[in-house]
Amino acid sequence: MLEKISELSKLLNSSYSAKSILTVLNEFFAENFPCIKVELYTFDFTTSQLRDFSRNWLYIDDIFDKETVIKYYKIYSDIRTKKVFEDIDNKVYYPLKQNEKFIGMLELSMVNVNDELLSFLSTASDIISLKVQNIILNEKMQKNINFHDSMKNIAKIIETQYELNYIVPLIGEMFDKFVSNHLIYIFLKKTSDDAFELVWPSACNDSKIYDMINILTDKSECILTADKKTGIFPLISEKKLFGCIVTKSMEGKLNEKEVDYIVQLTNQVATTINRANVYAEILKHATLDALTGFYNKRQLNERLKQELSNSQRQKTPLSVIMTDIDFFKGVNDTYGHAVGDLVLRTISDVIRLQLREYDIAGRYGGEEFTIILPNTNAKSAVMVAERLRKAVEKTKIDISKLSPEHKKINVTISQGVHEVQKDDTVETLIMNADKALYKAKMDGRNRVICSNKMEKPLEKVK
Ligand code: GH3
Ligand code: MG
Ligand code: MG
Repeated sequence: MLEKISELSKLLNSSYSAKSILTVLNEFFAENFPCIKVELYTFDFTTSQLRDFSRNWLYIDDIFDKETVIKYYKIYSDIRTKKVFEDIDNKVYYPLKQNEKFIGMLELSMVNVNDELLSFLSTASDIISLKVQNIILNEKMQKNINFHDSMKNIAKIIETQYELNYIVPLIGEMFDKFVSNHLIYIFLKKTSDDAFELVWPSACNDSKIYDMINILTDKSECILTADKKTGIFPLISEKKLFGCIVTKSMEGKLNEKEVDYIVQLTNQVATTINRANVYAEILKHATLDALTGFYNKRQLNERLKQELSNSQRQKTPLSVIMTDIDFFKGVNDTYGHAVGDLVLRTISDVIRLQLREYDIAGRYGGEEFTIILPNTNAKSAVMVAERLRKAVEKTKIDISKLSPEHKKINVTISQGVHEVQKDDTVETLIMNADKALYKAKMDGRNRVICSNKMEKPLEKVK
């Protein structure tokens, strides 16, 4: 008997998840008693509900029919108050306790109840309880860590980013990771008619959600549906409702702690988005991009217009280079967005150093740069682009301050070159450089392609 206890204890010691604990218990009981199946139900003190340990800890209310649920709650109450165990439908229930507190119960199917089993359970249940408790605490801690990571991430984004189309997917992904068994939707109000517009992900087919969000006001707090499976979290900043985040689950309910976390995250998100809007407003009058110091897109377009008309009037050559960092999403995903930003700044510095005084560089979008080369034909522009490409390729970026476990990384760029032709407009010029860039990507990245040398224009597929 002691041997059995120590064997079980050893096996449990090397299991670190609910799943592996159940596997161990099932194998152990099958071998030693015989028993067909072991299940474990834990009592959640925040919601006062029983959860099924084997099914992602879903509340039993969500997986069984009403009758079964009532039966389980009755058994749980019985074993706590009256007896040590209960024998129903060929199943035996045994309470799990920790420091005199009931934390759940064990269900053994088709087992022979005899003195040996009972005396084994009286000791084993303590060991199992301890392990279960550990797993529950671990899960809570992991949730806390994830929560604080998410908060930190948003705070970092606030520092440098202001483009909503960059921020929104990040927020969506972050929520997704945080409440992983829920669907997440982000709605923002359109400025034109004040209606909610889904901005992440691309579709939401649930008309009930639309009905619910339309009742939100500037004073709303979070709304949970009666079954607690859908939560509506208003985005309010400076007393104005400007959007909402919706979480929807097929199975699990939101518990109080989760709701509390999501409310805090939503408040942080509201501040982020509001600042982004304010910042974007200020930047409408700015000419430089805050992160790289290059011209911003609006100014870039102005300069392109000017240079194009100069070149057409004076009949001088003009070329543009479209530059895009290769696999940049991977940099963000592997090392975090702060490293991504550092890479962007470093690459813009490398480009700046390589250019001549009268060349014009701008940030076209996320990790795309446009370089305008006045008085330069395609052949020279390709040489400039090649020089940039090589300089970037050999730049080692020290990321150890932001990501201590890594030291230096490097990235490559792909480039599309286009020399202005006589009918070109700003739009066709960008389009042609873009097509060449697209081909550079398709051909394997870290290379330069010139549109004027491409056999036939490619249709850009997005
Ligand atoms: P490809 O080689 O095809 O260009 O792959 P990619 O991963 O670079 O392409 P994709 O366009 O899918 O990814 C661009 C990424 O750039 C996605 C976006 O999160 C990131 N990004 C855009 N703007 C910023 C920014 O200001 N800072 C950071 N850190 N990332 C940004
Ligand atoms: Mg890229
Ligand atoms: Mg890109």
